[in-house]
Amino acid sequence: MTTSNVPLDDHIRPGSLDDFIGQDDVRANLRIYLQAARERGQQLDHVLLYGNPGLGKTTLAQIMASELGVNLVSTSGPVLERSGDLAAIVTNLKKNDLLFIDEIHRMPANVEEILYPGMEDFKLDLIIGQGPGARTVKIDLEPFTLVGATTRIGLLTSPLRDRFGVICRLEFYSPEELARIVTRAASIFGISITPDGALEIGRRSRGTPRIANRLLRRVRDFAHVKGCQVIDAQVAAQGLDMMDVDANGLDQMDRKILSCIISHFSGGPVGVKTIAVACSEEVRTIEEIYEPYLIQSGLLKRTPRGRVVTEKAYRHLGVPFGDREKR
Ligand code: ADP
Repeated sequence: MTTSNVPLDDHIRPGSLDDFIGQDDVRANLRIYLQAARERGQQLDHVLLYGNPGLGKTTLAQIMASELGVNLVSTSGPVLERSGDLAAIVTNLKKNDLLFIDEIHRMPANVEEILYPGMEDFKLDLIIGQGPGARTVKIDLEPFTLVGATTRIGLLTSPLRDRFGVICRLEFYSPEELARIVTRAASIFGISITPDGALEIGRRSRGTPRIANRLLRRVRDFAHVKGCQVIDAQVAAQGLDMMDVDANGLDQMDRKILSCIISHFSGGPVGVKTIAVACSEEVRTIEEIYEPYLIQSGLLKRTPRGRVVTEKAYRHLGVPFGDREKR
């Protein structure tokens, strides 16, 4: 078993659509659009990828560029502070290149506005100077594809959203798909793992490949220290228990959020800002990282009056549901 600490992420990122596991509908659609763009020798339509962190948006952008044989230029919404930052990037794009903007919902409004004509007509309207002396300069761009990634599609303005020809939603992965991802990563790194060991990690990875890969790395360390040559279900379960990742894949923070709503707010409804203060966590982290999986697992509900913990969550935490009514 290897014990080197090579950064897993870059080595195990799938390099082609064939290696990309799961997301069958997204993959099937992209395969068609990529083939059509390649055969016509034209740029791919602009693509918006949305879904939770770690589900494969960056990976898909890299795969699209490599399958099209074009450059991938990557940036992110919060980095593009001024319109000039974006102008400098798009004016350097070569024909049919792919521009990847991660966290595109965090792009400032003034930057977003200069992107519209860029996306539509491959032109830039730049305002040079200020006040009465300001003038507009039109710059022609090479045709390019914008691939935007976001965890919060609802925060995108509709003019921006409407300019994407292809919109793909990435879903959480099933435990079986995650087991395949874990098995693939393990084989790249020479880690011996049994199918039920991979499934145990898959089950506890919150539907997310990035977490599956991280847990694999930690379980590998655990197995190494315990002198186990092979990761089977028992070794995986022991390692994950030790890391406080429970059988449903919930970690300490997930459980803290649920128990806090139960103990301080009688199970809800309670607003997310109040939960954030009570758990000493940022609102955005709760909304983007924790809540989606708790909702997907049926442990938390979002209602117009706030978040409510479900009966299933009471059972999961071993708290009698009847207690709720007494408070
Ligand atoms: P995002 O951009 O959505 O946050 P990434 O594309 O960076 O997520 O993916 C996180 C990690 O998970 C990467 O290291 C990648 O190797 C792995 N990964 C994501 N999706 C898949 C998949 N479908 N098959 C195999 N590995 C994947």
